[in-house]
Amino acid sequence: MADYDVIIIGGGPAGLTAGLYAARAALKTVVLERGMPGGQASTTDNIENYPGFPEGIPGPDLTVKMFEQARRFGVEVRFTDVLSVNQLPDGVMEVTTYDGNVTGRTLIIATGAKSKSIGVPGEEEFMGRGVSHCATCDGAFFQGKTVAVLGGGDSAIQEGIYLTKFAEKVYIIHRRNELRATKVLQDKAMEHPKIEFILESVVTSILGKNQVEAVKVKNVQNGEEKAVSVDGIFVYIGKEPSTELFKDFIDMDERGYIPTDAKMRTSRQGVFAAGDVRQTPLRQVVTAVADGAIAAVAADEYLEHGE
Ligand code: NAP
Repeated sequence: MADYDVIIIGGGPAGLTAGLYAARAALKTVVLERGMPGGQASTTDNIENYPGFPEGIPGPDLTVKMFEQARRFGVEVRFTDVLSVNQLPDGVMEVTTYDGNVTGRTLIIATGAKSKSIGVPGEEEFMGRGVSHCATCDGAFFQGKTVAVLGGGDSAIQEGIYLTKFAEKVYIIHRRNELRATKVLQDKAMEHPKIEFILESVVTSILGKNQVEAVKVKNVQNGEEKAVSVDGIFVYIGKEPSTELFKDFIDMDERGYIPTDAKMRTSRQGVFAAGDVRQTPLRQVVTAVADGAIAAVAADEYLEHGE
């Protein structure tokens, strides 16, 4: 006898929506979340492409609503760290957490993705002392200061624009001379008087005594290196899936993303994946919530018919 019908690991948009749909299907459901519910979306200043909010909606507002909606329909949320997962001989999923074991008849993996590190000297040392992956969390510490943002994708440009609310100057450092970010964001950043681009350049080290004081920047065309004085650096060079826990449990691709079929079924029966952890062409809030809904309905079908 399992504790739950559905165990969901991860309380971001995918996990909370899976919870909502599972609970509304009268399945006994728990979401295991190690931090704040809401995932990456909860650290996004303003989400402008989630339908229904013509003016955009702050990420924390949207995810708090998702959390409240899931709770309203009876989803239990436990704040704990998952240590390992395992399937017992009778097919029941056993999840070991920091606070003991939880068993479930099905498992939905919605652990999302996390920011990649650059891997240069000073990055780890100054983490939280000028190095950050979250402008929404740390931007306010840089009132009137100079910061660098590393990356040329949507996250780097969007967060670079956000940081101009606080910082006097924002350098955006990108390794190519073309940005990957969508045109609307690019135009906004290019026109911004506080933003200066340093293109075709990479950061080779982060310098300082007690906190960040400068970044060493190398031009990839001519190899020249120079120190740029900054008080902080925000690293936005992409994401990697949070799937280390499931390495020997289910199949994943060489980058750690989980392949699923259209019903979000993984290589192991009774185990589903939803959101940014999944091998998918688009990782957005709108796709994560859709995945979560499909995974919950598929888990319900599996419990009913065993497939
Ligand atoms: P991303 O699109 O993968 O962009 C990563 C950026 O970092 C690229 O410009 C890449 O350069 C650069 N980069 C990668 N490795 C690097 C390294 N080792 N050193 C220096 N630079 C490096 O990642 P993202 O911006 O986090 O976005 C992830 C996904 O979320 C995307 O699908 C994005 O569209 C989506 N997203 C959407 C929104 C929105 O719709 N408003 C907001 C945020 C994120 P290259 O260009 O040279 O590869």
